[in-house]
Amino acid sequence: MIEVRGIKRFYQVGDQEVRALDGVSFKIEKGEYVSLMGPSGSGKSTLLHCLGLLDRPTEGHYLIDGRDTVTLNEEEQARTRRERIGFVFQFFHLVSYLTAFENVELPLTLSGVPAAVRRERVEVALKRIGLEDRMDHIPDQLSGGQRQRVAIARAIVTGPTVLLADEPTGNLDRRSGDEVIGLLEELNASGITLVVVTHDTDLGGRARRRLRLADGIVVSDEKEAS
Ligand code: ADP
Ligand code: MG
Repeated sequence: MIEVRGIKRFYQVGDQEVRALDGVSFKIEKGEYVSLMGPSGSGKSTLLHCLGLLDRPTEGHYLIDGRDTVTLNEEEQARTRRERIGFVFQFFHLVSYLTAFENVELPLTLSGVPAAVRRERVEVALKRIGLEDRMDHIPDQLSGGQRQRVAIARAIVTGPTVLLADEPTGNLDRRSGDEVIGLLEELNASGITLVVVTHDTDLGGRARRRLRLADGIVVSDEKEAS
């Protein structure tokens, strides 16, 4: 379960204060599928970065399984991120000179997992996304959809409980985008909590819960009756 309580994130730009998040509160239960929508500049990426512990709020609290992450030091925060959270970006953020295998292996290497265990887990993750036959390819030798699938394998290889995706189909054609969303939804069906940022209303509408942001605040939170 993740919970944000009154989080704010302000940026100082010259003598101007930009209120990217201006007091956001909600809870997301384990296994939920949430889309985060809103116009450009409404704070979606800022919020997702805070949820992914890639950024710290200026104010407020962020709890993961009841533990307030705001009180964690840098190292504890990095460890929590590695152990619990998978992040998928619009532009994949793969390392260009590493193979698909090595890209997926990276978070395990950083966590000090022994080589034999790494190999096994990377193979499982690449099978899961259907790219075990591309593991020796570098990103330039893969299509956009394949790169995003490698990025998803990298996000899940550590066994996170939460998967955060920021416009994961924003740089893909319709067909690859559908494949990527299908894969994220499969992972959600097998228990992982999924939060997807999108400005595509069709895509956002697929989630059972839809959060909408405008000017750094939540303006609606709709849940489908189950
Ligand atoms: P979205 O993802 O919904 O398009 P963002 O979270 O990227 O919105 O941005 C929210 C607001 O914060 C925007 O006004 C943006 O210009 C501002 N912002 C985002 N990142 C920074 C930054 N690093 N420095 C200054 N302002 C920023
Ligand atoms: Mg954004």
